Amino acid sequence: MDTSTEKAVRAAPAPARPVALSPSRASDFLQCPLLYRFRVIDKLPEKPSEAATRGTVVHAVLERLFDAPAAERTAPSARSMVPGEWKKLLEKRPELAELFADDPEGKRLARWLADAEALVERWFTLEDPTRLEPADRELYVETVLESGLRLRGFIDRVDVAPTGEVRLVDYKTGKAPRPEYSEGALFQMKFYALVLWRLRGLVPRRLQLVYLGSGDVLTYDPSEADLRGVERKLLALWDAIQKATDSGDWRPRPSKLCNWCDHRAVCPEFGGTPPPYPLVPGAEAAEPVLPGPEAAERALPVIPGPPSGPDAAGQNGAAGQSKESS
Ligand code: SF4
Repeated sequence: MDTSTEKAVRAAPAPARPVALSPSRASDFLQCPLLYRFRVIDKLPEKPSEAATRGTVVHAVLERLFDAPAAERTAPSARSMVPGEWKKLLEKRPELAELFADDPEGKRLARWLADAEALVERWFTLEDPTRLEPADRELYVETVLESGLRLRGFIDRVDVAPTGEVRLVDYKTGKAPRPEYSEGALFQMKFYALVLWRLRGLVPRRLQLVYLGSGDVLTYDPSEADLRGVERKLLALWDAIQKATDSGDWRPRPSKLCNWCDHRAVCPEFGGTPPPYPLVPGAEAAEPVLPGPEAAERALPVIPGPPSGPDAAGQNGAAGQSKESS
């Protein structure tokens, strides 16, 4: 480990066993078990990214726009909120200033804000906020399945029709995946649908992904059988995570997504050495340890699909790991 990595390891919060699953962390494990370990167990810090931070600002605008009366929810008014939401985020997370530390004239920041405004504006071609009154925004949901597996996450928007039918909506600042990868994208929404079903006893009528990067809307109407299938897949995934946790066997799984991984300096695939495994491996692992996520993958769609560029990491809009922690 180089000196900066050692410092980062020392500065990270205390390591701990995974206690819950969120869509983002499920995606991490499927992408690369070692990445999951670095994020969830070692809690290694990551550098903020422009794409993810822009996603956070855009999400904040789309959430807070609904504070205004319906008639005032216009595109110019939403665009005008972008600089203010960036300022608020910066006050909460001053470390984000480093994104533009080498931009004394503010040209790159101006372009970045303009890109965020364009994403916000595109939303108005896809949905009409003057005709929507969300039941919930940025809704934190958490449930414990009968097996003991705890699931949690944030749902961007929940709409409830006068008939009681529920629609879950998620905004993505990236582009829509190609059709062959849409199952992976929908998996996150099915995860939320399962949590809400378990919490409220009602299967959401519709799941909706709004892609601001490409101007697409992807929808899916889930059934109970779908959600039972998702539950089985999550249990298989959690089983694989538990076995890796017990054994300390977190294999790197290189892919094109390594280009956006902050942990290459400590990754054996790039000549690095991971920090010592901070948990005591072993005694609990009664069965042979799975050689990585393969067992879970047999059951799960690959998430999130192929990289579409650096923005792939920011499609969720959550900067780094702030939105879903485990
Ligand atoms: S660099 Fe690639 S293989 Fe290494 S931890 Fe990151 S994602 Fe995994």
